[in-house]
Parts: sequence; C-alpha cells; structure tokens
Amino acid sequence: MELPFAESWKIKMVEPIRKSTREEREQWLKEAHYNVFQLKAEQVYIDCLTDSGTGAMSDRQWAEMMLGDESYAGATSFYKFEAVVQRLFGMKYVIPTHQGRAAENVLFSYLVKEGQVIPGNAHFDTTKGHIESRKAKAIDVTCDEAHNTQLEVPFKGNVGLEKLERVLTENKGNVPFMVLTVTNNTVGGQPVSMKNIRETCELCHKYGVPVVMDSARFAENAYFIKTREEGYADKTIKEITREMYSHVDAMTMSAKKDGLVNMGGFIATNNKEWFEGAKLFCIPFEGYVTYGGMSGRDLNALAQGLDENTEFDMLHTRIHQVAFLASLLDEYGIPYQRPAGGHAIFVDADRVLTHVPKEEFPAQTLTCELYLEAGIRGCEIGYMLADRDPVTRENRFGGLDLLRLCIARRVYTDNHIRVIAAALKNVYDRRESITRGVAIEWEAPLMRHFTVQLKRL
Ligand SMILES: *Cc1c(COP(=O)(O)O)cnc(C)c1O
Repeated sequence: MELPFAESWKIKMVEPIRKSTREEREQWLKEAHYNVFQLKAEQVYIDCLTDSGTGAMSDRQWAEMMLGDESYAGATSFYKFEAVVQRLFGMKYVIPTHQGRAAENVLFSYLVKEGQVIPGNAHFDTTKGHIESRKAKAIDVTCDEAHNTQLEVPFKGNVGLEKLERVLTENKGNVPFMVLTVTNNTVGGQPVSMKNIRETCELCHKYGVPVVMDSARFAENAYFIKTREEGYADKTIKEITREMYSHVDAMTMSAKKDGLVNMGGFIATNNKEWFEGAKLFCIPFEGYVTYGGMSGRDLNALAQGLDENTEFDMLHTRIHQVAFLASLLDEYGIPYQRPAGGHAIFVDADRVLTHVPKEEFPAQTLTCELYLEAGIRGCEIGYMLADRDPVTRENRFGGLDLLRLCIARRVYTDNHIRVIAAALKNVYDRRESITRGVAIEWEAPLMRHFTVQLKRL
C-alpha cells in the first residue's frame, strides 16, 4: 500500500486555542459591529484572516534568534542575511526593511514621479497605495482568465501580454518600471508561469522598462512552476527561484509570507544606481542600511526562513493543506476561485448567498455567518474592500465578491482544515434561508474595510 501524505515536520511547541459558544460569538460580533477586524484574536477559534506574519518559526529559526548581532552598523546578522538573498535570488545589493510596504516606500520614493504609469498584474493594495499617493497611476494588466472563478487554468496570475504592450506603447517614456507580483495575491494566490515571467520581462525590456518583482509568495510560485509547468519537474525550488529572478531588475519582499517570519521585508537589485538611490530613503524612513527596519535576531531568523521555505517538502506540506481544503469544498459543492491557489481559498460569495443583494454585501455577510457558525475568522475580499469610486462616491460592485480563507504556515493541522470545511458546509446548507445581508452605519473615507461599522438587516 502506498503510504499517505504527511507533514515534513513535527511539533515541538503548542499554543492552546479555545472554542466559544454561539451566544458568546453573537455578542462579540455585535460588539465588533459585524466587522471581523474588530474582534479580539482570543475570540477566534481558527484564524484565517491572513497568512501574513502568522506562520510558526522552526527550531532552527528560534536558534538563530539567539545568535542575533544587535550592533548598529555592520552586524554579522546583516551579512548572513545578505549572503542568503544573494545566493537565492542572484541579486547583489540588498536593503532590509521592516515589512513589504516599507520596501515599496523606500524604492518607490526613489523611482516614482507624479503623472507616471506603472503597469502590473493586479497590484497589491499597499503597492497601489504607494503608487497613487505619489500621484502616479497603477494599471492592471492581469490576463482575462483570472476574472472567471470557475475557469480551471494552471497560471491564472499571468500578465496579459497584449494589455501590457498597449500600456507600454501608449505611455512611452512615462513608465518607470513594471510590477510583476508572484503569486498574484489579488486574484486568489494564482501563480505566474516561467514562460509568462520571461515574456513579460522581454516585452518590458524591449521598451526600456525595468521589472520589479513583488515577491511576497515567490516560493509558492516556484512550487507551482515545478508542479504545473512543462520542463521544470526535475528542477529544485532553488534553481527555479534563481531562474525567475534572472529575468527581473529588482525585487521588493514582504518576508511575513514566504520568509517565514512574523515581521520583515527587503529590497534587492543588481542595479547599482537604484541601490544608491533607495539607500537615501532607507536611512530616514527605516534606519541605517545594514539593519533597515529589523533587529539583528530577526534578520537571522529571516535568513534561515528563506532557506527553509525554498525546499520542496516544506512547500509541498503547505500547499497540500490548501489543496486539501479545496478538495473538501469540492465534495460539498461550494464554489471558490479555481484552481486552489498557494496561500488561501477564495469562496465565491456571490454564488453562495444568491439571495443576498449585492448592495447588502454577500461576502461580508458570509464572513459573519462563518464566524457565528464556528468561530472561524475569514476576510472579505469583495465589495467592502473595493470601496467607493473616489469621484462619484458610489460603491464599486464591478469586481468579484469573495470570502478569503488564508492558511497560516505550519500553524493548523488537517483536523482544523476539516472543521473549517464543515462549518462552511453548514452555512452553505442553509444558504437559501439567508436572504438579508448587512448595511453600513459608519465608514472611514479611505480603506474602510478595516474599521467599517455595520448592522445586520
Ligand atoms: C503582503 C503583501 C505586500 C505588503 O507587505 P507587508 O509586509 O504587509 O507590508 C505587498 N505585496 C504583496 C503581494 C503582498 O502579499
């Protein structure tokens, strides 16, 4: 008999979690104004809000913490970290920052000027924020397939090359760089193929436009290239990573994802001019260039985390768990963005709560229902997040309305995954009886989803 799949690690330390009663959850959610961001973490049984900074470190990472060198300048921790980044990505110049958005802030402060245009395959919200706050424009050039949740294609995060070329020709001389995000978080943690990475970079370079890789989930992307793209099955994750980065000009990284640390980020590039330019913004915003926004022990843990997470077994364990959740949802007939991505399942709320009108926020309603059902906290990635049009102030109902269930790295077991799926099934089974959603009582003028106050209808 073939041996079943099992995790590539065993557990050395545990953190107790607590179940609650439905009555408690009704009360807590009411106090949180039906916005799960406003819940206390201890009111949550299984937390699928985000995979950012929520992973468990290994014994080796904790051991590295003890070896941290907290010298202000030239710490051994920096050189250890720099050497790992140079080896994994083939990039010579490295600047640590306290998280991904800080890397964007430092690099974009140097690169982005008012009125410029920056294409990308669905810019992450902070990336877009750092472009728009500098009065430049972010244009989405993701392939069209990404917007049909039921279409089963292997590299749904790809760049639409014709869309990209149109932006490049129409804005000649006004595109400082292109942002290539791996995996494409916004459309469901969907990967970008090596072929698409290569062709995107060739196209940009033909127009003299450099490419910055937004790298939060680069290792998961490399895993999908290995398992889905022809010609890569026998290559290691580290070899695939090197090849991915051989095409691009620079990277920004949120180490809270594939760096396997709770806080951290960095910039890396082979472009000396960019390095010198970005350094000038690192010092006032983040700190001296050999620590950026990080302490020595955190740089050590990150160096170790990057090395661990570019091993196949580690990624296989993680992505298998996401695929396991997807297989249970398939069994129960619950629609989600197909195929399953690397870090999360995105449930298609519009197709689940078909009786809730869009003006009453189906995905936000489903997020509340799942919490009430079993204390599981997901995250709305839909009409609430899409916010209002800055000019007309109308709600933007044009995109997808999804409930995102993120899986933290090395945190929950497959039994927890079974609980998540069963709770969702219970809500799904009574979906016909859910006919009303939520209404906004108070909202902030910007990024409303974090603080919005709602009432149940
Ligand atoms: C999380 C993320 C960021 C921002 O990183 P933070 O560490 O949260 O500041 C940028 N891009 C992508 C694709 C991300 O997933």
